[in-house]
Amino acid sequence: MAATPRPLIAGNWKMNGLKSAGLREVKKLATRMDKVSKPGCDVLICPPATLLAPLRDAVKGSGIAIGGQDCHGNAAGAHTGDIAAAMLKDIGCGYVIVGHSERRADYGENDRMVRAKAVAAHGAGLRAIICVGETAAERKNGETLKIIGKQLTDSLPKNSTAKNTIIAYEPVWAIGTGLTPTVDDVKEVHAYLRSRLRRRLKADGVAMRLLYGGSVKGSNAAELMAVDNVNGALVGGASLTAADFWPIVETCL
Ligand code: PEP
Repeated sequence: MAATPRPLIAGNWKMNGLKSAGLREVKKLATRMDKVSKPGCDVLICPPATLLAPLRDAVKGSGIAIGGQDCHGNAAGAHTGDIAAAMLKDIGCGYVIVGHSERRADYGENDRMVRAKAVAAHGAGLRAIICVGETAAERKNGETLKIIGKQLTDSLPKNSTAKNTIIAYEPVWAIGTGLTPTVDDVKEVHAYLRSRLRRRLKADGVAMRLLYGGSVKGSNAAELMAVDNVNGALVGGASLTAADFWPIVETCL
């Protein structure tokens, strides 16, 4: 029987955090991690690009990883304001989020572009965290599985493995709203993702980590992390302070 994927608790700081506060919070986190002799999960912070280098230095030796929030689909070139996957790798990142619903909505990123970003991430030696999720209207219309299935098929590169790819199920309506799907709804979507991944990638599909994201906080994390096929969380608002993030990390330690 395949081993259960090792959980990952990932914080996405989005466009939040100046140097002093960011360093203060990540140092508190690192101090807590240092006291855990054998963590049962991986911990990741994806700060704004301006904080990647200082946070990398601040978490050194703690086991906390640093990741990007996005990368370009091309390896380099005339793309003002963008970041290449190789630049993230170069500065010490191990992961990059691609296809977050805020990027899909704000910049019109579609599945083809998300796949190109994931390919670029893999090419640079980064793990791609590919986000999928339905809108409130799509859920109301009973289209959740159809939408997620299509996003997964079209966003996932051919060479995806359990090592280089993580899938995050993030219902758009649950992000930053305080709303979460029921445990049964999360279970249904994650079982569906798992079955599609198993069919497409065989053993890698069984071993690939599936994160849940959308209003995860200390008070609901244990219940959500206990759902079948949930192998960790992608956390926005509650990842900004160590006080809020640590209780979520603790559910998987
Ligand atoms: C996110 O943006 O990935 C997210 C899950 O945000 P929040 O936890 O704030 O809902």
